[in-house]
Amino acid sequence: MRHSLFISDLHLSVEQPQSAQLFLRFAQHTAPQAEALYILGDLFEAWAGDDDRDDPFHQRIINALQTLSSGGTRILLMHGNRDLLMGQDLAGACGATLLPDPTLIDLYGRPTLLSHGDQLCSDDHAYQAYRKQVHDPAWQRQFLAQPLAARKAFIAQLRARSRNEKQVKSDEIMDVNNEAVLGLLRAHHYPNLIHGHTHRPGHHVLHLDGYTCERWVLGDWDSRANALYCDAAGTVKWEIFPG
Ligand code: MN
Repeated sequence: MRHSLFISDLHLSVEQPQSAQLFLRFAQHTAPQAEALYILGDLFEAWAGDDDRDDPFHQRIINALQTLSSGGTRILLMHGNRDLLMGQDLAGACGATLLPDPTLIDLYGRPTLLSHGDQLCSDDHAYQAYRKQVHDPAWQRQFLAQPLAARKAFIAQLRARSRNEKQVKSDEIMDVNNEAVLGLLRAHHYPNLIHGHTHRPGHHVLHLDGYTCERWVLGDWDSRANALYCDAAGTVKWEIFPG
């Protein structure tokens, strides 16, 4: 059956070899059956710039995607907050197409909005202020002009700070804001929504202005490989892969 797979929040890094193994196996054995693989952000735990694609760990991931793409599976790549700086050079090396966040697609006849999801966490004001800064093209240009080693050091610092902050932020603040979700759905005329980021996999049915919208939240890959499977017959289901 013709189908597409959706994944996010793999957070691949050389420090987490297990997730990388799961991903390489998925790319080799599962994803080739799909006509499209959508990666909705945070494929990488960190991305300092496309000049870091020569790193041997990154090369393994890029090669796996390139092989998948050469085999005929379309790869659609969206930025997450961690790998915001993925650019055209990386996408080209993977045989992938970068998608803006959000992107509305026709998923086998059902309008479906794709997003990483961090923009929906609007109760986290400190994060949204930071997000606004790092999405500014001028900020990105200035950052990418620094040497790779300096960028990596800066990102390592950010990660340490974010780990500390997460311990004091409440669960509600870290989840999506319901009004933000409804506003986004209204703005795109009531599609379904698929996003990641919160690491709270789930399926929510929303009734809004007389429409029914489904919100699918993708799971992270910290403990297991998982994807959302959608086929041309309208089946939507979770696929969990054995570690
Ligand atoms: Mn994220």
